Amino acid sequence: MSLDHTAVVGAGTMGNGIAHVLALHGFDVTLIDVSPDRLDAAVATIGQNLERQVNKDQIAAADKEAALDRIDTTPDTDAGVQAVDLVIEAVPEEQDLKARVFGDLDQHAPDDAILASNTSSISITWIGAQTDRPGQVIGMHFFNPVPVMTLVEVVRGQRTSEDTFEAVAGLAEELDKHPVEVEDYPGFVSNRVLMPMINEAIFCVMEGVAEPEDVDTVMTLGMNHPMGPLTLADFIGLDVCLHILEVLHEELGDDKYRPCPLLRRKVTAGELGRKTGEGFFVYD
Ligand code: NAD
Repeated sequence: MSLDHTAVVGAGTMGNGIAHVLALHGFDVTLIDVSPDRLDAAVATIGQNLERQVNKDQIAAADKEAALDRIDTTPDTDAGVQAVDLVIEAVPEEQDLKARVFGDLDQHAPDDAILASNTSSISITWIGAQTDRPGQVIGMHFFNPVPVMTLVEVVRGQRTSEDTFEAVAGLAEELDKHPVEVEDYPGFVSNRVLMPMINEAIFCVMEGVAEPEDVDTVMTLGMNHPMGPLTLADFIGLDVCLHILEVLHEELGDDKYRPCPLLRRKVTAGELGRKTGEGFFVYD
């Protein structure tokens, strides 16, 4: 199955990174967002990030220009997906929104197109059930920043076909990523393992076991993690961490995933991490 012409829906943090990587590896990309401003910002960000790769001698200047030439943009999803082989959805993590977007994609993308979602926590089986082509719906879970991080969790929904899986895992390899096959259970592998660790680090702070910087130092120096769990939580966004823990808690029904009250308190106070200037640490 050839996936030459692709579309990315949602031009935010993840969407612009996914479009960057696709275009750099020779795929035509239609980048779609309801907000024309976000589209302009995404193309500017991709240009800057490609320039950084040129400056580091990772790619040639001509590669940058060729990649930018492969990207076109539109605020019109229905028109943008009419002639594509693959759509990768990266709109905000809201169940109703994903249902609406996949309903539209199912109606307007070619019948044989694959519809992938970059969701972190919504069931791929459920997303597939919003369409008439669940065999062609799959999770393609990239990590931030997409041009740098090599992991892609390729998530099989209950009805995802073998052909769809093979095509998407093959694409991830063509993008110089490392695909890992994952079944559709809450949090996949990444968040199922990571979020309880972050949550436990927050319990340590709440219970006065250690200060945030000391919790992080234990994990960086003692476990050789490149980044402490609280620094990582601030980077991901404390609201995102809370949301994923709530999904794990509700869907797996085990109290070991209950979100720490201190995490909830910080989110309520608007201390969401780097993006608001304060989380467990303060940022300029
Ligand atoms: P974001 O808020 O940065 O970007 C989302 C974009 O989608 C925005 O530009 C918004 O204008 C656009 N959008 C909203 N509704 C739309 C619609 N109906 N049609 C087209 N565009 C629409 O979000 P993000 O951080 O890039 O996250 C996107 C997805 O990726 C989420 O499902 C999230 O869980 C997942 N994810 C995020 C990260 C991360 O670190 N940020 C990592 C892995 C997966």
